[in-house]
Amino acid sequence: MYTDLKGKVAVITGGSKGIGNAIARRLSEEKMKVVINYHSDKEGAEETVEELKKVGGEAVAVEADVSSEEGIKALLDAAISNFGDLDLWVNNAGMENKVSTHELTLEDWDKVINVNLTGVFLGSKAALNHFLENDKKGNIINLSSVHERIPWPTFAHYSASKGGVKLFNETIALEYAHKGIRVNSIAPGAINTPINAEKFENEEEKEKTLTMIPMNYIGKPEEVAAAAAWLASNESSYVTGTTLFVDGGMTLYPSFEKGEG
Ligand code: NAD
Repeated sequence: MYTDLKGKVAVITGGSKGIGNAIARRLSEEKMKVVINYHSDKEGAEETVEELKKVGGEAVAVEADVSSEEGIKALLDAAISNFGDLDLWVNNAGMENKVSTHELTLEDWDKVINVNLTGVFLGSKAALNHFLENDKKGNIINLSSVHERIPWPTFAHYSASKGGVKLFNETIALEYAHKGIRVNSIAPGAINTPINAEKFENEEEKEKTLTMIPMNYIGKPEEVAAAAAWLASNESSYVTGTTLFVDGGMTLYPSFEKGEG
């Protein structure tokens, strides 16, 4: 438990399922008040809110598209109108689709960049303005990916968006560090969530992925949420502008595992 989080307010984008949902649940366990954003999965968001309320949590579900300024405004407004403040903004919403780059349409490129990168910019901008106007040492957490570092053929738009998040994260961390505002990224490896459920249902695909993970298992959303809770808390008070890899060692060049090469 991180007792300093008690009573603080968090917005989690894309919080109805997957990693965002695990983060919302974990922050609620830490006694934070949570705004759970959803885009399409109203049921998942509302069910989560009900479950959290049953055990004494304070939570609200809010529909919004993070790639639009109106959507972001709705989320900030919900934090203020329901809970009176904002302390933490988690840019978690993300999407991907597999396609060879020579066949990638501008429409698909734009969709992924708009959610994964522009959404991070818009969410961070709204949070920064709130923190600055209220002289608040706020906190921003961005869900990046191991693909901010590892190139991923047939996911060029996704990799470009996460590479963009890396430098955006570092830039705004530097820009606002003197205000006591902290900004960090979490880079998950392969985590068991709806974004890749289909892939991991296929045993062959799953085995292929496992060969890339030194710890030899697909990560759980709760393991990413634990990193988010730590970054949100004062236990990480001197940490800003970094990317915390939560990847079972995926970024450690596993092909060198046996000392060959
Ligand atoms: P997910 O598909 O389970 O959840 C993503 C969420 O984002 C969904 O709730 C979806 O509705 C929401 N979303 C999509 N577009 C949106 C929009 N325009 N506005 C608001 N919400 C929107 O995926 P996940 O695995 O939980 O991924 C969460 C984050 O972690 C993403 O940024 C993803 O890129 C990143 N990530 C995931 C993995 C993994 O293996 N699961 C690995 C690396 C990085």
